[in-house]
Formats: sequence, C-alpha cells, structure tokens
Amino acid sequence: MQIGPIASHFIDGQYVEDKSGTPIPVIYAASGEQIATVYAATPAIVEQALESARKAQKIWAKMTGTERGRIMRRAADIMRERNYDLSVLETYDTGKPLQETLVADATSGADSLEYFGGLAGSLTGEHIPMGEDWVYTMREPLGVCVGIGAWNYPTQIACWKAAPALACGNAMVFKPSETTPLCALKVAEILHEAGLPAGVYNVVQGMGEVGGALVTDPRVDKVSLTGSVPTGKKVYAAAAADMKHVTMELGGKSPLVIFDDADVENAVGGAINGNFYSSGQVCSNGTRVFVQKGIKEAFLKRLAERVGNAVIGDPMDEAVNFGPMVSENQMNIVLGYMEKGKAEGARLICGGGRVDKEGWYLEPTVFADVTDDMTIAREEIFGPVMSVLDFNTEEEVIARANDTEFGLSAGVFTNDLSRAHRVIGALEAGSCFINSYNDAPVEAPFGGVKASGVGRENSKEAIKHFSQVKSVYVRMGDVEAAF
Ligand code: NDP
Repeated sequence: MQIGPIASHFIDGQYVEDKSGTPIPVIYAASGEQIATVYAATPAIVEQALESARKAQKIWAKMTGTERGRIMRRAADIMRERNYDLSVLETYDTGKPLQETLVADATSGADSLEYFGGLAGSLTGEHIPMGEDWVYTMREPLGVCVGIGAWNYPTQIACWKAAPALACGNAMVFKPSETTPLCALKVAEILHEAGLPAGVYNVVQGMGEVGGALVTDPRVDKVSLTGSVPTGKKVYAAAAADMKHVTMELGGKSPLVIFDDADVENAVGGAINGNFYSSGQVCSNGTRVFVQKGIKEAFLKRLAERVGNAVIGDPMDEAVNFGPMVSENQMNIVLGYMEKGKAEGARLICGGGRVDKEGWYLEPTVFADVTDDMTIAREEIFGPVMSVLDFNTEEEVIARANDTEFGLSAGVFTNDLSRAHRVIGALEAGSCFINSYNDAPVEAPFGGVKASGVGRENSKEAIKHFSQVKSVYVRMGDVEAAF
C-alpha cells in the first residue's frame, strides 16, 4: 500500500520534489509496512523555501488582518469538511487510533486557524496620551518564522504554529518530524486552496540537520520548536546566536496529585487520559501520579480494572482506543524504561511489555510503589507508562512534585476547593488542571516553565510570540535642545 504524498515538499504554493535528498521511509506503525517515501530537503530546497517565504511575507503583511483572517477561516472550514480523510492520514502518519484522530487532530488544527483567523483583524496597537504629545504603538510581524514539529500530533502542531504566525502577518517554513512527514503537506495544500498567497506557508522535509540549517539562516526571524528538552537546548542556543525569537514547547514529567477526598472514578479517568491517550505520546502527560495513602488501594484497584478495558488493535477500527507506538525506535525506548521500572523495584500493576501482534504495540503499563529517585519517575518516557507514587501531606507532595527540571503541566484532584487552588498555585508548571487532565482548547495558553519551554502557544498569548511592538513618540510642539 502506498499513500502518497504527491511530492516531499510544498514550496511557493506547490508541491516540489527533489529526489537527490536522503530518502525518508514512512512506516505505518500498526503493521511495520512502508507506506510512502519522502526525500530530505537539499540545501537548494531549503534555499527555495526561505526565499519564497521572504518574498511572500511582504505581500501577506500588506494585506489587512481581516483579509488574512478570512483566508485562514476558509482553510479551517475545508479542514473540517475533510476531517475524515485528514484523520485517516494522521492515523497512517502516527499509528494513533482513528477514534482519537477524528476528534483531536484536524479538528484541533481547524480550531486554531479559526481562532487566530478571527483575531487577525483586531491586532491593533495602543494610543498613549502624553499631554499634548502622544505615543502610538503598532503590532508588527516578525518576518520569516521557522516551525519544527515533533511526531505525536503532526497536523495539530503544523496548525498551532501556522495559525498565530500567519494571523500576525508572518510567513512560515515548517519542518515536520522525519517520523511523520505527511500531514503538514496537507495543511499547506489546504491553506493555499483557501487563498493563501504562494510562499506564505512552506513545508520542507528532513532530519535534524535540515532543522539546523533553517534555525541558523540569517533570513529567519523566529523559531518555534516542539520537541524534546535536549533538542530544545540546541535549537535555543543556535537561535540565540542571531538573537532570533523563540518559542520552545518541550518535554515534561508532570505531576498529577490525587488527594484522599477526590472522586475515585474521576481521578482514575484523569490518570488514564493523562497517561494512555495517544499511547502515552503526549508531552503534557501526568506521568507521576501522586496518590494520597488513604485512597491508594481504591485508586489502584479501579485503575487496573479500567486499564483492562482498553481496546488494543487496528487503529483504523473506530472501536479501538489504544494504538501502537509511533515507531519501532520509540517502542524500544519505552520497553527499556519498563525494564528499568521492574529492575529498580517498582511494583508492576498491569502491562509491562509488548502486545503479541505485528506493529509497534505496547501494553498500557502501571507501576505502583514508585519512589522519587527511580528512573521511571525522573525521565520523560513518552509512552504508556504510569508511575504511581504515595504521599501523606500536601506540603510534602508539593515539594516532591516540584523536584524536577521539567515544568510543563500539573493536575490536582480534590473536592476541597481551597486546597485545589492552593496546590495548583504552588506547583511549578505552565499548563494546569483541576479535577481534569490534558484539556488543551485553543482559547487557553499552552506551554511550560523551567526546562519545559519558553513562550506560549494558543490563546492571545501566542500573538505576543509572533509579533513585536513598535512604539512611536509624536511631538506636537517645538523640539527643545540643550544647544
Ligand atoms: P525531538 O526533539 O527528537 O525532535 C523534534 C524536532 O526537532 C524534529 O522535527 C527533529 O527532526 C528536529 N530536530 C532534531 N534536532 C534538531 C536540531 N539540532 N536542529 C533543529 N531541529 C532539530 O522530539 P521528538 O520528535 O522525538 O518528539 C518527542 C518530544 O517532543 C518529547 O520530548 C515531547 O515531550 C516533546 N513534545 C512537546 C510538546 C509540547 O508542546 N510541549 C508536544 C509534543 C511533543 P527529526 O526528528 O526529523 O530528526
């Protein structure tokens, strides 16, 4: 089976092929079958994309915000009309179950284009009176932005970066992860079908070195990366050499704190959503589940029962709610962590290995009696491995939850209103949840603190990260000078 694409890259409003680049096989995670080949961008392709973006940005920025927004909202409508096909493609790209991709990927991308398209016409400056003089400000685009994506949400990441960038009048060159190169091409195709001027949104394929070439190019004004902390540190440093703007959406090892008074079913539901959605390949997952001792056994019992109800199988079957890992490599990384959990003495409640079928399937896995120093409690696993840790007091759990380099997300389950807000207030994280986990509407800022990131995606906050403010002092009278 071959599922395209038409060509590897999308530049200046059209598909472009250059087979002299390194071939990148696209493997369907549910079968291990190769379903497509794309070719990494050569220096000539990178050059074409950047030149095209540079020219198109000037045309795009001259349009009114309302005109830009209309095109973006049209693209959102097309994405919704084609949701089924786009979801199937997302499933081929990632292996995530269609049950998920139908509601979480193209739909989320469309939300983002619609939301930022709606904002585009209202991105105004301020008027600041200074007696008879005055200052006015203008919100200007940054110029050419580079987006670099991870492999877990290829459609969503492509849109979450494109939408605020384009709303502000920037152009973008987007490099998807080499593991999931297909979906961003469709996003580019749809944006142009909706009327985007050629060159405003370009997609080039490649591995880290293509990303590196984009990040260090002097024509680039901003880099927005979704990826791991080690990659984030490299990209941030490279961007800093030219004082480029950055947004860094990086990894996490987020705490989910469950107090004795929590509703057990809801807490278990939150822990399942925060560990097993997308087979655990979600950056904001609450993988350190701190459970207060009084509720621990009831929580573990219901958790094991409900995890046993996971329907593991063909991701294209809409009844399936737990699919394979994105790649053999990622599966092996996660298997290594499962073995470390066992070797370091954590108590295996369920799962712990591969599912006996073709494809890169792992069992949803829960370890209990995990201690803070165990590897599975310290490192981001990016797979379906939940660590359950015990705690006694609020003060203790806050200190332990914050004892990590990461700070992406945090959640708390309790029926005590004051405690919920007090604990969330004390947790060092950017995207937090009370009696819920992993909701990410476009209206809410998303991003991390500490090593988990810089800047925010989504919401009006993202506008600040894709634009800059010019202030203009206007003197109405004569200029006084010392000599
Ligand atoms: P990586 O950090 O390995 O890669 C991210 C992207 O960066 C890929 O496109 C990669 O290219 C590219 N890249 C790698 N090296 C460089 C470089 N030196 N210069 C420029 N670009 C480079 O992450 P994964 O793809 O493995 O994704 C998983 C990680 O992403 C996890 O840590 C996860 O937590 C994080 N993530 C964060 C999210 C957030 O919003 N905070 C959301 C989703 C994931 P290639 O892979 O093609 O070589």
